[in-house]
Amino acid sequence: MAIDTMSEIPSYETITYAHPLPGVAQITLNRPKARNAQDLQMTYDLNDAFEQAAADGEVKVIILAGADPHFCAGHDLSGDSGKTWADFPQVNTWGSFDPPGAEGRFARESEIYLGMTERWRNVPKPTIAAVQGKCIAGGLMLAWACDIIIASADAEFRDPVVEMGVCGVEFFAHPWEVGPRKAKELLFTADWLGAEEARQLGMVNQVVPRDELLATALAMAERIAQKPLFALKLTKEAVNQTQDAMGRPNAMSQVFALHQLCHSHNVQVHGIPVDPGGLPKGMRGRFVKKPASGISE
Ligand code: ZN
Repeated sequence: MAIDTMSEIPSYETITYAHPLPGVAQITLNRPKARNAQDLQMTYDLNDAFEQAAADGEVKVIILAGADPHFCAGHDLSGDSGKTWADFPQVNTWGSFDPPGAEGRFARESEIYLGMTERWRNVPKPTIAAVQGKCIAGGLMLAWACDIIIASADAEFRDPVVEMGVCGVEFFAHPWEVGPRKAKELLFTADWLGAEEARQLGMVNQVVPRDELLATALAMAERIAQKPLFALKLTKEAVNQTQDAMGRPNAMSQVFALHQLCHSHNVQVHGIPVDPGGLPKGMRGRFVKKPASGISE
């Protein structure tokens, strides 16, 4: 991250940060060639950007968007471009990802997946995800972390992690987002969930034509930004605390342990933390021949 001293707009490797309107910050995932897949660099870029927006007294609403064509393909299974945990400031206290086996994986996924997503979910300002195209697995976690989701009509959502021998993504919000029965169907089948059905289920707030997506998010952000900031912050807290009083954090941390059990099982049976049968075809041989510490989804 670098700061442009003229405008005090930070710049990042994997995302962009802008103030498109007074009171509004826009964070845009910007690895379009990788379908905005989230690697370590993007994780820490995102965390810094959310912290910037949270700390900036001029910002009242945060938009999270993805550079076209797709919002996010999920966690980057191809590795982290040679970077390791030690290249970034750790946010939680699990520390090194280096220990072998479950210890290093637990530290890694506690830090960069469950911990970060929870942290972004609790940023004390309204957040709006603008989602187009594909939103897969870890991409769901990014959208779910936001308070409001506006989707383009062509947006599609999917968690295919069961096919990889794991019981859903690390931030297990599925039952909270679409209800227990639909969550089971979507996880069991790995089917796509279309934008309009996602809206009917309550996971998505609005569905709009793709060429109106960002304008719609900006218009909503502009309206929200007219409201008193402290009231917005406490309103967000009120809703989040209501959901948390229903047991969400406890349920999610227990499911995270099941998720880790799945990874350990896959290592025992397949030699890598996922069932290679569920990996994209181009990646199967590669990961079977060379177990990669970077693969964690
Ligand atoms: Zn995982």
